[in-house]
Parts: sequence; structure tokens; C-alpha cells
Amino acid sequence: MIVRHVRPWGGAPTDIAVEGDRIVAITPSAAKGPSLLALPGLVEGHCHLDKTFWGRLWWRNEVGPRREDRIANDRVARRSLDPRREGRALAEEHLRNGTTRLRSHVDIDDDSRLRHVEALLLLREEMQGRMEIQLVAFPQAAILRTRGCEEWMDEALRMGCDAVGGLDPSLIDRDPVGHLDAVFRLAERHGKPVDIHLHEPGELGAFALELVAERTRALSMKGRVTVSHAFALGEVAPERAAALYALLAETGVSLCTSAPAYRATPSVRRAREAGVVLFAGNDNIRDGWNPANAPDMRERAEAVALKNDFRRDDEVEWALETVSTLGAQGCGFADYGLTPGARADIVLLEADTPAEAVVSRDRPVRVISHGRDIPLARS
Ligand SMILES: [Zn+2]
Repeated sequence: MIVRHVRPWGGAPTDIAVEGDRIVAITPSAAKGPSLLALPGLVEGHCHLDKTFWGRLWWRNEVGPRREDRIANDRVARRSLDPRREGRALAEEHLRNGTTRLRSHVDIDDDSRLRHVEALLLLREEMQGRMEIQLVAFPQAAILRTRGCEEWMDEALRMGCDAVGGLDPSLIDRDPVGHLDAVFRLAERHGKPVDIHLHEPGELGAFALELVAERTRALSMKGRVTVSHAFALGEVAPERAAALYALLAETGVSLCTSAPAYRATPSVRRAREAGVVLFAGNDNIRDGWNPANAPDMRERAEAVALKNDFRRDDEVEWALETVSTLGAQGCGFADYGLTPGARADIVLLEADTPAEAVVSRDRPVRVISHGRDIPLARS
């Protein structure tokens, strides 16, 4: 297959030659006239395929004000779901919008135990060859305070989950050292990367970041550990934040943000300056936690741009990198990019520049994943 006369990242028109699932050559295009913009397949760095109502009738949310209310609400909400069906609907819509790699956390608690893990492992298999999915074993209701949770997580990793999750070690388990030791113990035993949800505020969150960095260094896990949200970085004093960014850069801990409207977030600019990989994900999409968000990474990139007060084209391109190259780097998705040897995951858009692709609401003209065209009509 030759994808003719397209502009990778808005550069000069080229022809992209594809053999099997690989890009084999990129050569200047001899054609004249208008050409489409080409981007590499987009990366969803953080979502929850096992919670979404995507494709279902609207679910009326009447959640209480506290975190405990939200966790209880989520349990009720997800009870009627089949993660393989709703999660599949969400993944398919993501794919039609150009997402070819996706990291999903999957709940493990005393209610669901390994039920969601089993469902999403099947979904991952069903999507194989069209979308690359990573699953993070996620202790939604604490590790230490939920009897059996560490054993279920251990089993989930044996069954094939790709990474070890964690959650607010002080606020949920009330034992930050114990919680993080359990997370990293599992990571070491299974040789798997780590991705920890950290909503903890200010100095409490900063302390957790230090504990994560220390364990990353001790286990030589540079480049294999992510902290999702890390709101504390947007909340502590600038000099405290600068020291934390330096520590994360030195130990090779990356960050993932959903750029929500309701909290301060890590800064894309400061992360870049410090040498910290900061990528983006939607987090909850139309579920018991959040009625909003969409399976469209260009929309998420726009949220990142708005949150960071980006106006210049080069800055808006940084936002696009958080849902493409930096997402692939942070999650460890291999063979990524518009380059010979990389997997042929290509999104073609009617846009002049990458910045226009971020803010445009037009759907992709063509999506190629693993070297094959994805049908774009919605069923
Ligand atoms: Zn999440």
C-alpha cells in the first residue's frame, strides 16, 4: 500500500509506503495539488474501559459529594455494565477517531475481584491487530485495606495485565509507604511497569511523588513508572514544584494528565523544560465518575492546550505531542511514529497544520492501523 501525497506533521508532501503492518519508506511526493495532513496513530494514555456507559442509554447520576460517595456510586453504576460490550463500543469509537494505542486501568476490588480483568483481557484479544491495548491492574478500593486485593492483583498480572496500578496511598490506604511498597513489590515480581493514580493535594501529594521516585530509583525502573494526575505539582509553591520536576526527571518518572477543568495540573511547559515526559489521557469517559469527555484524543489535546493557556502554534503542537509521541514514550508503546520501521498507524486529516488538527472538529478522512484501513462509518 502506498499512502500518496500526504504531509507528515504538516511537513512537505510525501508518499508513505506500507508493507504488512510496517511503514517501509517515506519519499517525496511527485504529485501536485492539495494534500492531507498525516499524524501517527494517536495514543490514549489513561482511560477506564470497564466503567463506561458508551453506547448505552443515558445513566442518571445522583452521586453524593464525598470521595467515598463516588466510589460507592461507581460500584452501583458499573453493576449493569458488561465491560466487554461497552468497553468495546468505546474502543471502536476511539479507533475511528484515530486512536490506535490505548492504556486502560481495570478495577480490582472486593466487589468485582477479577471479573473486569477477565472481560478486558478478552476485549484486548478481540481488538488485537487493530488497536494495541495495555491494561493496568487498578486497586479502586485500596490494596492494604481490602483483604485479598494484593493477591488478586498478583493473579491479574499473571493473567496478562501489562502494568501495576495504585491509588492515593495516604488517603485511601492511610499508609503511603505500605501501599507503594505493595505496588512496587508486584512490579518487581512480575517485571511490569507502574502507573499510579495520585489525586492527593499539595504537600501530601508531593510526599507521595518523592516516595514513588525513591522506589523507582531503588528498583532501576527509570522510564517505566507513571504518576497519573499528580495535581500536587500544580498546587505546591513554584520552588517546591521545580525540585519535584527535577527529581522526576532524574529518576525517570513520567506524568499523565487529563487536564480537567476542576483542579490545578502539572504544567506541560515546566515538564518539558525539566525533561519530564508528560502525556495525556481522558480518564473517565461518560461513566459514573464523569458524564463528559469523548473517545477523541484531538479533543483531549485541545483540553491540554486550553488548560496550559497555549495560543501559539508551537505550543498547541506540544499539546498534540501529549496524545501521540509522548503518550507512546510514557506508556512504552514500541515502534511508534511516522518513520520507516514503525508500525503503520496513520491518521489522515483535512488540516493545514498540526495545530489546526487539534482544534478542528472534523473527523479523520482516513485511519490506518497495523497497515490496514479502518472503516469509518459508525454502525
Ligand atoms: Zn483514572
